[in-house]
Amino acid sequence: MEAVAPIAEIIADIKASGGQSARYCYQCGKCDVVCPWNRVRTFSIRKIVRQATLGLPEIELEDMWRCTTCGTCQAQCPRGVGQIPIGVALRRIAAQYGVLPEPARGVRTAAASLATDGNPLNGARDERDAWAKGLPVQPFREGMELLFYVGCYHSYDPRMRKVAVAIAEILDRAGVDFGILGTKESCCGESIRRTGNEERWKALAKQNIKTFVDAGVKKILVSSPHCYHTFKNEYPELMVRFEVVHVTELLSKLVDEGRLRLGTAVRRKVTFHDPCYLGRHNGIFDPPRDLLARVPGLELVEMPDNREKSLCCGGGGGRIWMDTPKGERFADLRLEQARQVGADVLVTSCPYCISNFEDGRLTLEGAPVVEDITEVIREAL
Ligand code: SF4
Ligand code: SF4
Repeated sequence: MEAVAPIAEIIADIKASGGQSARYCYQCGKCDVVCPWNRVRTFSIRKIVRQATLGLPEIELEDMWRCTTCGTCQAQCPRGVGQIPIGVALRRIAAQYGVLPEPARGVRTAAASLATDGNPLNGARDERDAWAKGLPVQPFREGMELLFYVGCYHSYDPRMRKVAVAIAEILDRAGVDFGILGTKESCCGESIRRTGNEERWKALAKQNIKTFVDAGVKKILVSSPHCYHTFKNEYPELMVRFEVVHVTELLSKLVDEGRLRLGTAVRRKVTFHDPCYLGRHNGIFDPPRDLLARVPGLELVEMPDNREKSLCCGGGGGRIWMDTPKGERFADLRLEQARQVGADVLVTSCPYCISNFEDGRLTLEGAPVVEDITEVIREAL
């Protein structure tokens, strides 16, 4: 084990970084039983919590970077231990000492791109709104009903750009008065924060907050549950509070109010995957199901791990930028679950889930099609 500093100093660092709940752990091991890693390989978050209590973290090991921050263990822990803040605290220390194992190196590239271009994908800032060309999408103006915060993957990733287009088309059909920030929008910072890079999160958050305030934004619509989580639960740490709405909540409401009419049958068997940061972390389980239930002709079936027990896709906690070998990808297990229940379509509402599922489908025979929920809704208009 690499000794990084005197133990007392490390314990103080862990506490200061939000890992103080480690001391409540009585090593029951329930967290390891429910952690999705133990479906594909051996991994012990219990051991990491123990190391945090003792001030002896093995920061040089890849295990420090495995946690996807899915929240399954936290939801089950009988002692209220915060495994996620503990893991993030240790990553902060690792980052401080410049320790990053080979499979986690993608984090460095993402961080560099965030610093220069405001996104983790090496996309040019002036290309951020390229997806919207030719669409009925206006720049946000003060007084508009809402800001559509597009997010990095929806802005740059070719698969996710199609989802941004679907959202814009639905909003336009419903007559929603919305605008985008275009090239002035920066990454929300959620995932880089989970890698221990507190400084970059803060810089991005401050930049976005200034842009929102200057533009007169009051209500923000997001599609990525990661943006939703940090805007709603973490930006208030910087003394601001915006009304944040997830696209499934808004569309559900628009259907209720009769502003959106789902009049076209979609005759497909569909299953919904709850993204960790939409469901477990923020309790949004019903709006997506309510929406799908109203699509004429659509049959909704559940996978074995649903709602609070949803199986993580593997992309949270910065893992979307790290290498996960075939055979250890949770997304492949999830696709198999969708296939087992006979779904034609695996529907979700998160850019990381969609990216991981699309990768997984390439090698799974008979895999269902992967769609964002807004793509299904657009089809039903
Ligand atoms: S479930 Fe909680 S108390 Fe049990 S080992 Fe894990 S962190 Fe410790
Ligand atoms: S948050 Fe999820 S991935 Fe991380 S240790 Fe807990 S169960 Fe495992």
